[in-house]
Amino acid sequence: MNPWIAKATVLLGSIVMIMIRAPHGQRSHQVKVLKSRKGVREVVLLTLAWLGFFCPLFWVATPALKFADYPLHPVPFSAGIVCLALGLWIFHRSHVDLGTNWSVTLELRDQHQLITQGTYHHIRHPMYLALLLYSVGVALVLPNWVAGPSYGVTFGILFALRVGPEERMMREEFGKDYEAYMARTKRVVPRVW
Ligand code: SAH
Repeated sequence: MNPWIAKATVLLGSIVMIMIRAPHGQRSHQVKVLKSRKGVREVVLLTLAWLGFFCPLFWVATPALKFADYPLHPVPFSAGIVCLALGLWIFHRSHVDLGTNWSVTLELRDQHQLITQGTYHHIRHPMYLALLLYSVGVALVLPNWVAGPSYGVTFGILFALRVGPEERMMREEFGKDYEAYMARTKRVVPRVW
């Protein structure tokens, strides 16, 4: 397959993701942050994830990573499209469900509400599930050993190191309500994990 198809897909996926987030990000920023746990670790993890997100765009725009290219095949490409589409859909739905309670880091906003409905009904981290699916999609559609897995690896690290502290923060804030929510839900895979 022509690698330009992969380039167009990655570009389109990134634009859709940014377009989904932009209005929600703007709305959330208008609500005051009351508690923040944005330490050095969070800054390092976020920087890594941003680098991982932009690396595929770097591959689209420049030939610098050409040494790590491999041929594009229709089977992984098609599977990747499914992951990207599903990831972007869940990303959109989880942003709608979370509303202005969303933050890019570990923060609690004014009048923060515990959301347990919609995509949050069965799992506690639908947005992370969406980003994990998206990152698998990028790895499958992008035929380059560096740029393909870059977001999956960096977001995977952020996810692994953040999910525990985030749940601790939510438990401290919402007490028994969050404990009950934890008892009846899974982290990212409904009924499994
Ligand atoms: N981990 C969630 C949310 C990611 S955004 C997901 O993957 O869907 C991160 C912020 O969302 C955290 O700082 C926290 O303030 C907020 N948050 C996480 N779970 C929440 C919930 N169930 N209800 C309300 N806010 C939540």
